[in-house]
Amino acid sequence: MIGLSETETTQISAGDRRIEDLKQNPRGEFLQAIGERDLARCLVKTAEIHGHFCPGSALGVMASVYGLNLLGLDSISSDGLEDLMAVVEINACFADGVQAVSGCTLGNNALVYRDLGRLAVTFAIRGKGSGVRIRVRPDFSSSVAKAAPEFYPLMEKVIKNREGGAKEKAAFRNAGRQAAFGIIHLPFDELFAVETVEPLLPEYAPITESIVCSNCGEMIMAPKSVSGLCLMCAGVVYRQVEGKGIVVKKAERQSASDQELT
Ligand SMILES: [Zn+2]
Ligand SMILES: [Zn+2]
Repeated sequence: MIGLSETETTQISAGDRRIEDLKQNPRGEFLQAIGERDLARCLVKTAEIHGHFCPGSALGVMASVYGLNLLGLDSISSDGLEDLMAVVEINACFADGVQAVSGCTLGNNALVYRDLGRLAVTFAIRGKGSGVRIRVRPDFSSSVAKAAPEFYPLMEKVIKNREGGAKEKAAFRNAGRQAAFGIIHLPFDELFAVETVEPLLPEYAPITESIVCSNCGEMIMAPKSVSGLCLMCAGVVYRQVEGKGIVVKKAERQSASDQELT
């Protein structure tokens, strides 16, 4: 600390304290914001993983903040160990609002991706019979257009047609920000419908044995193997989540020598 002013020392201490708090309770800041229904704070934290501000992620943030509060405060002490589950029905910006705010993610298996292309999410707690499904009303885009009139025309140009230079891209980012921070102030019922549902949840994720593929030598989950080979080396079908949803792909069979970098 030698050579630092008193203000700098205080700032470093505050930063260190925040890290210590987050080490003890990694979801603490999110949980506080969810409890306080602080949508702007949740949106800013979501953009740390989503990369930009947009109406889709803002809708995912809103659906999650309201959904978790509807389930009750117990549910939002989510620790990513699969007790709170989220079933999301779309693989678009909306899904990142859900993952960030709920803490139910692809990696911790508390997120179920149902490949339906619907702007909806269900939150449920294991062992409790019912959950809440929140869907975006079909006319949400008129609210977005009202909040940021430039958003859809620029999206057409920059994203759909892949046109426009740096200026249009910057304008599009700006319109996305304006739309996102505009719609979070709208009444929840204007944008969403809520229903109580009996959620069909999968079992807890299995802890599987690992084996080494006898061709490429990479470690794989045993259920993802065929006769001791990974699916790639076995040249069979596998599934992939991509922009189109879940697609079935055929592995190109490769020999061990094909895999080596020269
Ligand atoms: Zn987005
Ligand atoms: Zn292999």
